[in-house]
Amino acid sequence: MNVQLLQEIQTSLAATGAKLVAVTKTYPPETIQEAYQLGCRDFGENRVQELLEKQPLLPPDVRWHLIGHLQTNKVRYIAPFISMIHAVDSLRLLEEINKQAAKCGRVIDCLLQFHIAAEETKFGLSREEAADLLENESFKKMPHARICGVMGMATFTDDEVQIRREFSALRDHFNWLQTTWFADRPEFREISMGMSGDWQIALEEGSTMVRIGSLLFGKRG
Ligand SMILES: *Cc1c(COP(=O)(O)O)cnc(C)c1O
Repeated sequence: MNVQLLQEIQTSLAATGAKLVAVTKTYPPETIQEAYQLGCRDFGENRVQELLEKQPLLPPDVRWHLIGHLQTNKVRYIAPFISMIHAVDSLRLLEEINKQAAKCGRVIDCLLQFHIAAEETKFGLSREEAADLLENESFKKMPHARICGVMGMATFTDDEVQIRREFSALRDHFNWLQTTWFADRPEFREISMGMSGDWQIALEEGSTMVRIGSLLFGKRG
């Protein structure tokens, strides 16, 4: 892994108070171990199966983040240990997270994923869908699923102006949710945005969590 770059990223993050989630999907457990030894504690995976294989091999104080799309029927496998679920985009998924977390006697931190990219394939909520979810009576009875903020992915493009505009839109969504539904909730404070190619723009636009993989660990096979 690129140790010097890790240190540069950590210095930039320290200046803004944002956190690094090291995205280790496709990389072997030894790579995660190495990053752990260099001080990383937050690791992101996007597939449940892969996460379940790696989790027992790493120290128990690792905070695991599920950053990819999560199917409802897989929530129960990760509920005992997952630290944060980044890509919540339906009430049904949130209900299942609440139910499985309750069974484990846990509260699981969640982020609402918004669709901010121009690409149609990406998952995520619109403002209207988020409002519907938050107004639903069922949402008000979920003590085991704690919404801590928002997450989004910008379009895969070299156009910095477009990327910045999309991140700025996500920050607007965050601000709107915060004033409308979470004004008295101090835990609602996370904006998970920024990856290998756009993390600096994301920080400038208010990111509190950057999710970086290939820049640190090299190209995926
Ligand atoms: C893979 C992935 C990342 C990290 O991507 P890199 O380009 O390797 O930094 C971040 N977020 C999500 C949701 C991902 O799936």
